Amino acid sequence: MATCDHNCKDCKSKCEHDTTNLKFQTNEANNIKKIIGVISGKGGVGKSATTSLLAVTMARLGYKVGILDADITGPSIPKSFGVKGEVTGTNDLMFPLETSLGIKVMSINLLVKNETDPVLWRGPIIGNVIKQFYTSVLWGDLDYLFVDMPPGTGDVALTVFQSLPINGVIIVSTPQDLVKMIVEKALNMAKMMNINVIGLVENMSYIKCEECGHIIYPFGQSKIDEISKELNIKPLLKAPIDPNLASLVDQGRIEDYDISMFDDIAKTLENL
Ligand code: ADP
Repeated sequence: MATCDHNCKDCKSKCEHDTTNLKFQTNEANNIKKIIGVISGKGGVGKSATTSLLAVTMARLGYKVGILDADITGPSIPKSFGVKGEVTGTNDLMFPLETSLGIKVMSINLLVKNETDPVLWRGPIIGNVIKQFYTSVLWGDLDYLFVDMPPGTGDVALTVFQSLPINGVIIVSTPQDLVKMIVEKALNMAKMMNINVIGLVENMSYIKCEECGHIIYPFGQSKIDEISKELNIKPLLKAPIDPNLASLVDQGRIEDYDISMFDDIAKTLENL
């Protein structure tokens, strides 16, 4: 469509970009005010850690928060919060587990027998699980539901984008992967799905020596300002490589991490 500006809400035409009728409905016991997707061009860049820290930030501010772990083949949210146990429920509803701060969590890792069991399912089945995590989990009243999206721009990511009423996405990348092409792909996917891009987080941006304060850039100089300017998206945060964060994640104690660097993102999310 030559004149399509991807603004489906105000457009009367039916075209391939129209996602308004594909959205899943959550159950009536849920009242979820804002859904924020966290995406990355590939795995291992700290997408799940960022999702968890965003959730901790908003929970510490007193908001009711949930995390839907849509990274079905690489679920790591329960482990970083030390959340274990069986998900219980009724015929129609599943009850999420809660972290120490009261963040509600639903993840495939809470449903499989052994958390090391691989999930060997094809895209449509994974898409269905994510649908159930949205429609059949008793999230209750939530101010923010963070969705840890599958990495990349494949079919599962597409399902989540198409079917959840997402208010905005945050893109996470490392300086090494922060090449324009990778971020642009994620950005274009969001645009084509008519989804607002909140901004960009550069994770593992630098290391600061604890002894002398010297800063080194193991993955090369930061590129966030340059890429953000070029693609017209908001630079949100340069997060350092922090052995303390890795250690807390391994111990299931991510809630103990100092999240002061997320203060500005919190304001952005409050103003969404
Ligand atoms: P993704 O979700 O993108 O696959 P994860 O969030 O699971 O990546 O992070 C991969 C690994 O890197 C985890 O062990 C995590 O604890 C660690 N990690 C992520 N961000 C940082 C950071 N800024 N400093 C140190 N370790 C980090």
